Amino acid sequence: MTSFEDCVVFASKALDLDFSLKDKQLETLRALYNGHDCVSVMPTGCGKSVIFQCLPWLFQCKRGLQYPLITLVVSPLTSLMQDQVMTLCEKGIKACFLNCEGTHGSTYKLRGEEENDSDDDQDKTDVHVSCSTSLIDLQRGAYNIIYAHPETLLNNKNISSMLRSKLYKQRVCAVVIDEVHMMSEWGMSFRKAFKKLSELVCIFPLPDTVHLAMTTTATPTAIKELVDDLQFTDTTTITVNPDRPNIKLEIQTRLPNIRKYEKLDELLHPLAQELRDLLSCFPLTIVYINQLEALGYCYQYIEDFLGEFSYFPVHDPIPENRLFAQFHKDYTSKMKAHIVCQLRKENPTLRLIFATVPLGMGLNAPGISRVIHFQPPTTLEKYLQEIGRAGHNGQQATAILYYNMSDIAPNRKGLSEEIRKFCLNKCTCLRKHLLQYFGFSNVLYCGSPENCCSNCQKK
Ligand SMILES: [Zn+2]
Repeated sequence: MTSFEDCVVFASKALDLDFSLKDKQLETLRALYNGHDCVSVMPTGCGKSVIFQCLPWLFQCKRGLQYPLITLVVSPLTSLMQDQVMTLCEKGIKACFLNCEGTHGSTYKLRGEEENDSDDDQDKTDVHVSCSTSLIDLQRGAYNIIYAHPETLLNNKNISSMLRSKLYKQRVCAVVIDEVHMMSEWGMSFRKAFKKLSELVCIFPLPDTVHLAMTTTATPTAIKELVDDLQFTDTTTITVNPDRPNIKLEIQTRLPNIRKYEKLDELLHPLAQELRDLLSCFPLTIVYINQLEALGYCYQYIEDFLGEFSYFPVHDPIPENRLFAQFHKDYTSKMKAHIVCQLRKENPTLRLIFATVPLGMGLNAPGISRVIHFQPPTTLEKYLQEIGRAGHNGQQATAILYYNMSDIAPNRKGLSEEIRKFCLNKCTCLRKHLLQYFGFSNVLYCGSPENCCSNCQKK
């Protein structure tokens, strides 16, 4: 049997990686290499996907085979899968994405797809994937990394019988469940989805197939529940301290809800002013807004304020040169693709995006240096995930959370007590507060109080 180190070198070459893997990535790979199931809790930006992308070659090398094996990646997010498949295909890696019925593009269309019965369609958008996939190619094992929605793998007859074929039983070396935190946000239906996902664990049991669940945030209790629901055995848990030293945390109050428009204008005016002054130098910002109506209002406000300065350069008012955008689930795929494509750039023309939650999940968006919540998310898990989209290049970034008393009223639907306490924390370090909730006592931040959080700054 080839050594772990040699297998990593082999896999890195196959994936054409021009960097060496980090400690936590290696730790996860080693646990899998040694035949353990694994739960990996790593913030966005830690290179989670590289871990599972290595597996077909890592296990090929370990077993001394002539051909790479197959990794199944289950994810709830179309945008994430689309992004990764494109990147892999550009490198010549055999990857594909199995989409749900009703999509166009050259993906394999699943006939007879059952109607999805849960409320989990946050990002079930029609997409175009550059690699074409045919059922025949799939059946003969032509793809080494297969991405799919959970429903596609479990509810589609063709796929289901393919997974049970001899070839797949021999070749699937890993089942990966990515973005687990997203599925937990589905609410009641997620338990059902997880129970179903454990079917995959049963079709491909240890020791021939290892299982990996990946999430950006999880408390110790949540990890235990996850392992039970997915029926993982012999599980190794790998967690990364979620502190992001280069993101300053700020909490600010906003006007009460009775001030219907002023409460948004108050937050929008300085942003609009800053954008008009700085144009393409405006710090790349995502503003998270919960209600669609407010999202539309914000967008319109900026458009009215900027007028002809809505484009950069000003004299070239084409859609690609627009400085701001809105992103929500009813948006057309073409417009979403434009935003995703812009965000993948180091320094995009697009500078300000108003978004409902789905934007940025798992997306590699290096340039974001500010995340603003106009209203608190309902949980600290969501908060941590959403602010985590800032500062990927290591640049100094800011996360600003606004709230008023209605936002944190105990009767707000889905609001957790923890986020309420977090908003109301006026004295102790917000960073410490957040980390303690996730089971970490040590803060990685070691800079001056001004760049730590709004509470440390006051001291
Ligand atoms: Zn602090």
